[in-house]
Amino acid sequence: MRVLIGAIGHESNTFTPFLTRLEDFYVRYGPEILDSPIRRGALGGIVATLQAHDVELVPTVAAGAMPGGVVERRAYEIFKQAVLDQAHDVDGACLFLHGAMRAEGLDYAENDLLCDLRAALGPDVPITIGLDMHANIVREMAETVDAMVAYHTAPHTDAHETGEQAARMLMQILQDGVRTKIGFAKIPFLLPGEMAQTALDPMASMMRMVADIEAHPKVLSASLANGHCWADVPDIGVIAVVVTDGDAELAQAEANRLAYTFWERRAEFGVSAEAYPVKDAVAAAMAADETTVFLSDSGDNPGAGGTTDVPVLLKALLDRKATGVVMASIWDVEAVEACMAAGVGQQVTLSIGGKLDVRHGTPLEVSGQVRLLTDGQPYHGGIRRSWMRGGHGPIAVLNAEGVDIILSSTRLSFGDPAQLRSLGLEPLDYRIVVLKRGYLTAPFQAISQRSILAFSPGATNCDLTQMTFERVQRPMYPLDPDATWQPD
Ligand SMILES: [Zn+2]
Repeated sequence: MRVLIGAIGHESNTFTPFLTRLEDFYVRYGPEILDSPIRRGALGGIVATLQAHDVELVPTVAAGAMPGGVVERRAYEIFKQAVLDQAHDVDGACLFLHGAMRAEGLDYAENDLLCDLRAALGPDVPITIGLDMHANIVREMAETVDAMVAYHTAPHTDAHETGEQAARMLMQILQDGVRTKIGFAKIPFLLPGEMAQTALDPMASMMRMVADIEAHPKVLSASLANGHCWADVPDIGVIAVVVTDGDAELAQAEANRLAYTFWERRAEFGVSAEAYPVKDAVAAAMAADETTVFLSDSGDNPGAGGTTDVPVLLKALLDRKATGVVMASIWDVEAVEACMAAGVGQQVTLSIGGKLDVRHGTPLEVSGQVRLLTDGQPYHGGIRRSWMRGGHGPIAVLNAEGVDIILSSTRLSFGDPAQLRSLGLEPLDYRIVVLKRGYLTAPFQAISQRSILAFSPGATNCDLTQMTFERVQRPMYPLDPDATWQPD
């Protein structure tokens, strides 16, 4: 038995002011994907499960890039072609797709890929997919594949298990003769991921409902995909998907019930962490009794497409004369070069940030002492996504009146204290650790006594009513607070 496999992942933010290009992707083709670090995620679960069933793997492509702007069309077409080139003489296909990729001129890239894959394989070859919880699933995708399942955790800790489940469902179809039916329901709700951590209510109780549905003997999988809300595309929202063994009515009824429960609880979804506007967040962090607090610069989160060059929260900290602060990080090549030219220990005055996301920030003049310079190499082995890009380029740390500002040559995403430590910066030695993210990743949560989220401006602003949406279908909650919805 031969099964086509692959993984293509990108979360495309239409508010990010630059394209995600082919060179921004970590990409491998053919058998090389089996040895790629992408295997650590969902693809690893797919491979392990299929190998346990003695399936011959037909590897196509594994491609992933940090969340960012819309993907250049050429890159997407190359990835798609790598899949389609192998779409013959196979018994099935199992892919991991993030689900929130947009390419130039293509609002729903995964749907385009799946429709072309279906056309190539014909109606009788089963296709199953694993998805990120922040997938934007359109109805046609549910009509095109035989089964799908999304991550059940945010922060995501079940990528491998999700891949396993996608592959398991494929084997149930191929070996056990299961005839899947998919129920699909979408509610008009733009929901930032920061408001839907699965360990916290109301998302925690919604996921218990998902687990209850999955316990039904006829249900193969149930998923809630919260979508990627920073996408100004028409067909978007929170999606419930239920896959059953042959029971279309049950699948749709359970998807409707899940979606309607979610909809009825929409007002309960807020930022579950302690969260304030920028100035209040800074004041709360400075007044904290804890030895270290983590402060999230949530509007400029590279984990959802932020540029990491909006210096608004940094300015608020400097204005308040906060000390014992580390800021991770500001992407500004010119500022890094100026620090390199000056040298360690030298005083410099720089204009930092506000050069890329000019809609949400302006350059900030900062004077300080160059504290540290590196060529970026310490990140290898430490940084979570070091394999995503060729290299990080030089990094400088500028101390501005007690604020250590990490200046980077590329867009960095700090998801692990090891990244700070690899620079010689001990996070727990600081009073305030500013991270450009929304909720803390699990490794930061593990060392955090208290975290505060600042509603800062940027491409990932959690207050969606401050963003300008032009193409999303209306009414859409919370842009239209009085929106109503009923299952079909
Ligand atoms: Zn996600």
